[in-house]
Amino acid sequence: MKPEYSEKLKLLPPYLFIEIDRRKKAAIERGADIISFGVGDPDMPTPRHIVEAGKLSIENPKNHQYPFGSGLMTFREAVSRWYRSRFGVNLNPANQVHSLIGSKEGIGHIHLAFVNPGDVVLIPEPGYPVYNTGALFAGGEPYFMPLVEKNGFLPDFSVIPDAIFQKAKLMFLNYPNNPTAAVADKAFYASAIEIAKKYSIIIAADAAYSEIFYDDPPISFLEVEGAMEVGVEFHSLSKTYNMTGWRLGFAAGNADIIKGLASVKDNYDSGVFQAIQEAGVCALSSSQKCVDDARKIYCRRRDALVSGLIKLGWTLNSPVATFYVWAKVPPRYKSGEAVAKLLDEAAIVATPGNGLGPSGEGYVRFALTVPEPRIKEALERMSKIKW
Ligand SMILES: *Cc1c(COP(=O)(O)O)cnc(C)c1O
Repeated sequence: MKPEYSEKLKLLPPYLFIEIDRRKKAAIERGADIISFGVGDPDMPTPRHIVEAGKLSIENPKNHQYPFGSGLMTFREAVSRWYRSRFGVNLNPANQVHSLIGSKEGIGHIHLAFVNPGDVVLIPEPGYPVYNTGALFAGGEPYFMPLVEKNGFLPDFSVIPDAIFQKAKLMFLNYPNNPTAAVADKAFYASAIEIAKKYSIIIAADAAYSEIFYDDPPISFLEVEGAMEVGVEFHSLSKTYNMTGWRLGFAAGNADIIKGLASVKDNYDSGVFQAIQEAGVCALSSSQKCVDDARKIYCRRRDALVSGLIKLGWTLNSPVATFYVWAKVPPRYKSGEAVAKLLDEAAIVATPGNGLGPSGEGYVRFALTVPEPRIKEALERMSKIKW
């Protein structure tokens, strides 16, 4: 028997990286030494003190049972303390914080708590694919908000029809932004909150990159007046502490919204392994020097790649946050063609901008998760490409 996939599964967009993947495999078969700027997965290990805390916690039998619910009180308190010191935001750990099995999990599930079939979900594009997947799985109708350079890669609310806002239940925002590396200011968030209040739209702010910055620390959506009435913010320990493999994140903000997400989760999973939550307590409560050290490393990589690309004639803005460089492809090329040429002629993997949404056409995303000597090697190889 060949199983018949569900209509919802069939709705998912085709895997856009298939052609790149095929070329990558062919290059590896040729024996090419691939340098990958593709996936945004930190290459550096989780800081030692966090690993040690996790090891100790694994030994504790009280952590061997189902975790259940919103997470350890110690974890939610650590989140609450971290929010106060980092953003000056007060969160009640009892009902305004919820642990997540990575923030992707919460971002995917929140739709099921609030979106009915036919409801609109406002989604930035190019963007993280899970906003769209979650909307489709809930039977919602994605409405894409283009992020273009002339608007500072912020959605332009003035061009969204009133009828769309009327039907919208949920709006995703993501700053610092993957893939454009843009940041949002208070005025932008205030305009989003005004719309959210006017049309009763829930705002889900994805702040996975809030700690990866090279300039002033980015603000939190929850710092802005009125945010707590209309939204939640998703955070992840993945990028901040090189913990992508551990699967730990959290949602914070409006208690009723958190409660909806909690109900979905209670019925789908039984919480985050407590040992991992305890490692998270260590990460959030210890000295943040490890984060500062990582920022310095990303900063040097950024400077090496940005100055090198500019020397080679590429057009781009140096990112002020995230570990992505969002570069315009050489003239007359499409994203897919440029990425294919980088791979075929220099064994370099990068993400085609249009793979993350149509407004990404004409761009390539380079993730700075590659050591500096390899960045220099990549630039050396790129200098030999004729565009
Ligand atoms: C990496 C990333 C996440 C979160 O990842 P988790 O590991 O699931 O916490 C969320 N949003 C964006 C935009 C990301 O790039």
